[in-house]
Amino acid sequence: MTPDVRDRTGRPSRRQAARGGVIPEASWRRAVELVRQADEVALACHVTPDGDALGSMLATALVLRATGKRVVASFGDHHFDVPRLLRFLPGQDMLVPPDAYPSAPELMIVFDSPTVERLGLLAPSASRAREVIVVDHHASNAGFGTLRLVDPSVAATAMLVEQLVYRLGGVLDRDIATCLYAGLVTDTGSFKHSSTTPAVHQMAARLVATGLRTDEIARELWDRSPFGYLKVLAAGLDRVRLEDDLVWTYITRVDRAAYGLPYAELEGIIDVIRRTDEAQVALVMKEDDQGAWQVSTRSKGAVDVAAICAALGGGGHHNAAGFTSHDSVEETIGRFRGLLAETTGEA
Ligand code: AMP
Ligand code: MN
Ligand code: MN
Repeated sequence: MTPDVRDRTGRPSRRQAARGGVIPEASWRRAVELVRQADEVALACHVTPDGDALGSMLATALVLRATGKRVVASFGDHHFDVPRLLRFLPGQDMLVPPDAYPSAPELMIVFDSPTVERLGLLAPSASRAREVIVVDHHASNAGFGTLRLVDPSVAATAMLVEQLVYRLGGVLDRDIATCLYAGLVTDTGSFKHSSTTPAVHQMAARLVATGLRTDEIARELWDRSPFGYLKVLAAGLDRVRLEDDLVWTYITRVDRAAYGLPYAELEGIIDVIRRTDEAQVALVMKEDDQGAWQVSTRSKGAVDVAAICAALGGGGHHNAAGFTSHDSVEETIGRFRGLLAETTGEA
């Protein structure tokens, strides 16, 4: 049992409150101890990694290597490829494809993944690992792992990883800060989402103080794309529909094939669709290379898209969630619309 540090009134202690965290001090200490004991640490993040998943994992990989550990890091996609947007992140020489990943690691650390399933091909390694430390901020976190560093109140897993870096005796250098900044800035939507607390800006200040280039990171993440992106976006916009409170569209494999556009390039399309004033909820169905629909959903606040997506086998956050569908566009959108109507009390 790990004791929770609380004062006499039952509130978290001042020390905990100062860090804004709900993770017991004893859990952090145990994590440091497990790392100290391990010869090799195997890191993993969720499939089709975003800035928070990959940034958190690579920041940890860098600090572990600096403290003399052997490190492997991966994510469990069939088509193992770092999304182009994230190729500027340091530490990628430590990445190995899933088939080169230890099948039963002595210590595994998992980032930004609410369930074992989100580890894709690496899920069996997590089941067989001696110890699994889960570092995450999803409210829906399913409670897997042997040690949990889970705090749904923080805006990004990267915020927990910053703590981990210090506790592992690491120094916040520019490379580590770049990885953490990628996580912070993507999960807060460039400091626009309601999760952007004073602690987020304070952390950003510490990261920027290492000398990282916020302008270059922003350009890598959002301000560049191949020409084909514009054509594929145009196809999606051409099909976009506004139905009551929902604005939605879809992008097929065929759309992308015409311009050789990789699936990962579609990530920003939801940000175009969701700007629609007339809709509270936005949805984009993206057909991946295997022919499955990866569905991105966003809410402006009242509707909990995480609950709807969870009911469809996915998950996420109140305002940003997703699920996977193997059915047709019409069936998938029909099911989503049905659940949305229940939520908003429409017939
Ligand atoms: P995305 O629309 O891909 O940016 O995803 C938004 C959020 O939804 C992510 O942070 C994930 O937490 C969650 N999410 C997306 N796709 C899935 C899925 N297939 N299963 C579970 N959660 C998902
Ligand atoms: Mn993520
Ligand atoms: Mn995250």
